[in-house]
Amino acid sequence: MTAPLQDSDGPDGAIGGPKKVTVIGAGIAGLVTAYELERLGHDVQIIEGSREVGGRIHTHRFAGAGEAGPFAELGAMRIPAGHRLTMHYIAELGLQNQVREFRTLFSDDAAYLPGPTGYLRVREAHDTLVDDFAAGLPSAHYRQDTLLFGAWLDASIRAIAPRQFYDGLHNDIGVELLDLVDHIDLTPYRCGTAHNRIDLHAFFADHPRIRSSCPLRLERFLDDVLDETSSSIVRLRDGMDALPRRLAARIRGRISLGREVVGIDVRDDAVDLRIRQGATTVTRTCDYVVCTIPFTVLRRMRLTGFDQDKLDIVHQTKYWPATKIAFHCREAFWEKDGISGGASFTGGHVRQTYYPPADGDPALGAVLLASYSIGPDADALARLGEAERNALVTRELSVMHPELRRPGMVLGVAGRAWGARRWSWGAATVRWGQEAALREAERREAARPQRGLFFAGEHCSSKPAWIEGAIESAIDAAHEIEWYEPRARGVFAAARPSRSERSA
Ligand SMILES: Cc1cc2nc3c(=O)[nH]c(=O)nc-3n(C[C@H](O)[C@H](O)[C@H](O)COP(=O)(O)OP(=O)(O)OC[C@H]3O[C@@H](n4cnc5c(N)ncnc54)[C@H](O)[C@@H]3O)c2cc1C
Repeated sequence: MTAPLQDSDGPDGAIGGPKKVTVIGAGIAGLVTAYELERLGHDVQIIEGSREVGGRIHTHRFAGAGEAGPFAELGAMRIPAGHRLTMHYIAELGLQNQVREFRTLFSDDAAYLPGPTGYLRVREAHDTLVDDFAAGLPSAHYRQDTLLFGAWLDASIRAIAPRQFYDGLHNDIGVELLDLVDHIDLTPYRCGTAHNRIDLHAFFADHPRIRSSCPLRLERFLDDVLDETSSSIVRLRDGMDALPRRLAARIRGRISLGREVVGIDVRDDAVDLRIRQGATTVTRTCDYVVCTIPFTVLRRMRLTGFDQDKLDIVHQTKYWPATKIAFHCREAFWEKDGISGGASFTGGHVRQTYYPPADGDPALGAVLLASYSIGPDADALARLGEAERNALVTRELSVMHPELRRPGMVLGVAGRAWGARRWSWGAATVRWGQEAALREAERREAARPQRGLFFAGEHCSSKPAWIEGAIESAIDAAHEIEWYEPRARGVFAAARPSRSERSA
């Protein structure tokens, strides 16, 4: 498993002397790569196309509210506490005191989810969910607790999976799984204030064999369901952007913003980057390059000197879109409706609605993450003009929260459609439903260097779509460069020690 580099590895430990490394992209992968390489004694500079660091970690602060005002996480917003590498950097950067609980989907009994005739509160949804779920089964001879298990698993998947993907997963919660669960006493897993829900985390943690007997597609997706509905997820109190900002402040090398890489030519002894800055484009010859930009961006540029397998993975890696839209509200009106946090499953194009903590000065208002959608719903929202998109979200969401229609309630709107953004053209890679060996083969291919050109980013990791994955890949890339010998270009893979040998 990837481990942060040890103090004994640097700063004077650069094997074969300091190398000059250019990192493309100042997202979390680029920043961690640069930080670790500098610790090892190498010279690093970062080229970033946009005008900001952080990439897909993006905290939007509403104008007029200042640094102390409410903000919206338009990119990453939560960290599962088991993401060891991310938690390591949080501690290393002195952000430990900002770690707070992140309240997630269905964590508040007063939150909503759609029922057959309108929205239901989580606390009162069980009978409707069970009836609905049982009606879709070939026979309903199961115990009530088994049906409750199936109904909540189904509701969680429906709230998290893109609509089209859900249909297949829904069928996967079939009789084989329920037959197994029916033999288990579920009383210890009942949870919620009225004990009318099943704690899926505790259940699957105690019954790994049941988990591994799920159909492959469901088994793979369960990680995301459990991560996203876990009670042990955290956030950073003052905004997730503290992580990239603190890292950037620790990096000694130059971070050049507004420099877009538009072409990469890998040669035997160097890597040429074509870099656009304003109206001019220049070629920079680099000894070593770490490319952390998403493959969706890379495949739009001119690439030469890449082997065919590498080009194939660059072109074929699948990304999902995601769109987030946040409303800056005059007040946290949902609190008067009994909701103290967490999220509702809203359905429609809006999909999920989060209620971030309104723990700042009430005079500055509160933020509602009105809509977090992925897949085709995110694309549909991305295609609309800003005014039309905001109107659609307001229309859909005000069925659940009519307060949004009150004059002066919404003070401002901010959104980001990651699938339509030129610096990402997608939210993240997904390898849902893939068999483990294929996932790993794709990961290795994505991360495989091309002579002096190395790769990092969430798409090169075993935890795609998470900050954890981006960090894992960055540490791997720093290891690779540290051990790379120029004369071995082309036979690098055979010459270097394996990762486990290196960390032994
Ligand atoms: C909506 C959303 C929600 C998410 N939620 C979570 C979450 O809750 N928890 C979690 O852990 N993860 C979450 N993620 C995933 C997480 O944000 C990413 O896995 C991680 O931030 C990716 O980091 P990266 O460095 O690999 O890529 P990026 O952050 O995309 O960094 C790449 C950088 O390259 C730059 N770049 C692109 N093209 C060029 C170019 N041509 N020239 C120069 N620079 C260029 C970009 O501007 C960017 O700064 C979420 C992602 C999204 C989009």
